[in-house]
Amino acid sequence: MADLSGLYQEVILDHSKRPRNFRVLEDATTHADGYNPLCGDRLTLYLRMNGDQIGDIAFKGSGCAISTASASILTETLKGKTRAQAEGLFERFHGLVTGNSNGGGAELGKLAVFSGVSEFPARVKCATLAWHTLKSALAGDAQEATSQADDPEDQAAR
Ligand code: ZN
Repeated sequence: MADLSGLYQEVILDHSKRPRNFRVLEDATTHADGYNPLCGDRLTLYLRMNGDQIGDIAFKGSGCAISTASASILTETLKGKTRAQAEGLFERFHGLVTGNSNGGGAELGKLAVFSGVSEFPARVKCATLAWHTLKSALAGDAQEATSQADDPEDQAAR
């Protein structure tokens, strides 16, 4: 397992140093801003929807290595996916980083590199910020994505 976490760390560092799809999407059909006050991570996520499919996706912002890598891998993973597939992956990813996953990480692909985050509850919001922002963007909601008070992440972070 030590080797695995080393490999995971390498992927996260790579994506935080060279984030993929890191740009403003000029022809975005929807976007949303996300802010994680616990860490100071900020990002804007841009989507170009082709009907129900994510035709293109990109982000801009600044934050810690985990939030940046998470947004970068999110954009790589979700390009070409449908809204329903994206929402399904969000549920799986959320379960993974909060330690509520019941196995089956195969579908998550590269997102599995964040499995170690479940051991660091204070970093869960860093890892999920891009996903909460995605949900806002998909909802067509331009307001800031902040977690609800009854979100299990809040309990975990205390
Ligand atoms: Zn952070």
